[in-house]
Amino acid sequence: MSRDPKYDILFEPVQIGPVVSKNRFYQVPHCNGSGHGRPRAEAANRRIKAEGGWGVVCTQEVEIHPSSEFTPFYEGRLWDDGDIPAHRLMTDAVHEFGTLAGIELAYNGSQSSNLYSRIAPMSPSAHVVGSKLPIQARAMTRKDIRNLRQWHVAAARRSKQAGYDIVYVYVGHNLSILQHFLKPQYNQRSDEYGGSLENRVRLIREILIDTKEAVGDDCAIAIRFAVDELRGPDGLQTECEGRDVIGMLAEIPDLWDVNISDWSNDSATARFEPVEGFQEPYTAFVKSLTSKPVVGVGRFTSADAMVAQIKRGVLDLIGAARPSIADPFLPRKIEEGRLEDIRECIGCNICVAQDMMAAPIRCTQNPTQGEEWKRNWHPESIEAAASDDAVLVVGAGPAGLECAMQLANRGYPVTLAEAGDSLGGRVTRESQLPGLASYARVRDYRETQLIRNPNVQIYKGNKLSAEDILELDIPHVIIATGSSWRSDGVGRQHPFKIEGIDSVKVLTPDDLLSGTEARGRVLIYDDDHYYLGGAIAELCREQGLEVALVTPDSKVSSWTENTLEQKKIQARLLSLEVEIIVSHEISNLAVDVATLANVYDANQKHEVKFDTLIMLTTRQSNDGIYQALLEHEERFKTLENIGDCKAPGTVAAAVYDGHLSARNLESEVDYYEPLFRREMPGLEPG
Ligand code: ADP
Ligand code: SF4
Repeated sequence: MSRDPKYDILFEPVQIGPVVSKNRFYQVPHCNGSGHGRPRAEAANRRIKAEGGWGVVCTQEVEIHPSSEFTPFYEGRLWDDGDIPAHRLMTDAVHEFGTLAGIELAYNGSQSSNLYSRIAPMSPSAHVVGSKLPIQARAMTRKDIRNLRQWHVAAARRSKQAGYDIVYVYVGHNLSILQHFLKPQYNQRSDEYGGSLENRVRLIREILIDTKEAVGDDCAIAIRFAVDELRGPDGLQTECEGRDVIGMLAEIPDLWDVNISDWSNDSATARFEPVEGFQEPYTAFVKSLTSKPVVGVGRFTSADAMVAQIKRGVLDLIGAARPSIADPFLPRKIEEGRLEDIRECIGCNICVAQDMMAAPIRCTQNPTQGEEWKRNWHPESIEAAASDDAVLVVGAGPAGLECAMQLANRGYPVTLAEAGDSLGGRVTRESQLPGLASYARVRDYRETQLIRNPNVQIYKGNKLSAEDILELDIPHVIIATGSSWRSDGVGRQHPFKIEGIDSVKVLTPDDLLSGTEARGRVLIYDDDHYYLGGAIAELCREQGLEVALVTPDSKVSSWTENTLEQKKIQARLLSLEVEIIVSHEISNLAVDVATLANVYDANQKHEVKFDTLIMLTTRQSNDGIYQALLEHEERFKTLENIGDCKAPGTVAAAVYDGHLSARNLESEVDYYEPLFRREMPGLEPG
């Protein structure tokens, strides 16, 4: 297949200063949790994207000096010449495919932790540090400013030596000292770097010019600039200084990479920004102020939306972080006319969560993400089947779908049996909830692939028992029957049943999502702390019910801090007039009334009335069939349980487990042996 001519425009080359991108697909800088700690993984991760057709592939932010470092997070590092070889791995890998390599040089100032260097962070004026550490950043002297300019120049020279084609000046995400110079909250200086906008922009202008003079003959100089912080007059605003800054610097850089800030706005989840191209209202003006190419993001996964951005003069290059994570081969698939093969990002921010936890990247949609070097996994290829043996996969949730799809890709004849009338398991159910419609993409991508694959037979409405499975006499059986929410209250807070729970009718998310209606005053008890509790509260409010949400944690949906959603969720629930009761557990239950106890002082108790009680505590694996079949294990070549049926977890974990199982079928892998390569620190003399 070849590409539809209407997408030709996406494959036009773009001149960026002294270099040329072969097309308009631009992987903007994004974290991947490998950085200076795992340089081989970093290079392999970026390499796959170059192979997948991106015209430009960038690093994550790269620290330029130990006085601004991000421990415990693994960003890039370019402190001295010793860091250059690690970067060479990345640029060489990317250049193999004629792709440009970009590096985002960063000085985080008061947003750095300096937990490793132990140097007091710097800021334009004295300021608290952003990481809630009980330390403050000191005000910079003029000498500090001169030093910072020199460090940036040195890092730019090293970037060129390392083979980068595009060197960034970073002014985004509230993570850059240059952005702090712009903002009066951080900059109360009375010298030539403070006061008027001209003065506050001065350092950005100087560093752009410094960088250009140092490496601009060979490398393009990009600026990454957040035009709006979505904080109204308390932050930078497009219609105010955001626009003015671009006007003042318009022609100095070779490329404008524009977005909104902070990270939770730039990487907004689909729950809060469901529409592709959601940043356009903020960034569309940029091209009218500069003749230089403009790149912007907006979770672009559809070729038509990308073309529209170019044709309407909004962007010159289509920026992507998450769409390139979910599908590193997105450009190639458009080029080859294989749009239905695109694995669209669902906007869940599991990728971000990994970074927030200082761990290497993973992705719900793309289980090979972060495993390119470690396990030598490729998103588009998999080892051929070891035999012609048939495989039965029972259950078509995320785990079963991924497993069946990859087994069929390997060439195995696969039977996929699903009890329900539709595929998708939990993602089909949960995608009915407010804001979660995109989660159905986990099913849609896999269902499309499975239907087209002649190796697969799908049987919906087919609830199998252990006896049925034994009768089928298929040598390899994989059980992916998912999990069910508990209704007895056992969870993190309560190791045992909640007192009085047997006298109460409890609804679980499973009941609700399979059609049981809540009524009257609803009490939601959330000891799960991820997205479901808040989403169910929203659903009940949409249905006009009165809702109180109780959680033992000190905030609602607390784990979603990692997906950058927590504040937005709490704000939304408050705006919907959900009563929020934090730091309380249910100490006992009677008909229509729950006694709540403060988790810090169990003597502080109060009663809450309810008509419907919805409990989110923990889940139990639906592993009855698996356990029954274990009694006959000798009749199978493979008998395995995967996904939530093995250990309930995230959708990402279920997809990953399904993928792992498909890769391992008929291999000699021993589950308990080391299964992947590790990066070991070099032991050369320091
Ligand atoms: P996971 O996240 O591990 O994929 P899910 O709960 O999303 O788990 O999906 C499990 C799927 O298995 C559901 O679609 C469910 O209908 C199906 N299922 C459960 N028991 C059986 C069974 N006995 N036979 C066929 N399908 C089953
Ligand atoms: Fe998109 Fe979720 Fe994958 Fe991140 S983890 S790239 S948000 S699908």
